[in-house]
Amino acid sequence: MNVLTISKIRDGTVIDHIPAGKALEVLKILGIKSGSRERVSMAMNVESKKMGRKDIVKVEGKFISDEELNRIALIAPKATINIVKDFEISRKFRVSIPQRVEGILRCPNQNCISNDPKEPATSEFRVEELNGDVVAWCVFCGKKVYDVEKYLV
Ligand SMILES: [Zn+2]
Repeated sequence: MNVLTISKIRDGTVIDHIPAGKALEVLKILGIKSGSRERVSMAMNVESKKMGRKDIVKVEGKFISDEELNRIALIAPKATINIVKDFEISRKFRVSIPQRVEGILRCPNQNCISNDPKEPATSEFRVEELNGDVVAWCVFCGKKVYDVEKYLV
């Protein structure tokens, strides 16, 4: 058997069961980019009994916020979150897909009122999981979004 281990963290967040290839999107949501000082380890396209292939992200010293969790749920609806304190898992849970998100997605419809700089409207989407995929639709114009990661603000 081929076992891959990535370094343990002392305090921080482990995000597991990310769809294969989406770890970089998760890092982006967490605000981690080139030049960031966080200690991050990640694995992409590792074998998973449940998913075939998956990505894992571990971030030292970072405790994830609810807003970050909502964003991650949109692109990784099966992700599990482990909060690690002093090398022990202090909390473990699955992300849950929010039913509504405000200000997190941009509407792809250029003519939508939520894209009009003269209007004070904050973007608002209803969200649903369909066969394991996340679908969001704009409450203002009804536009459906299937590839939500492209429209994350
Ligand atoms: Zn819209």
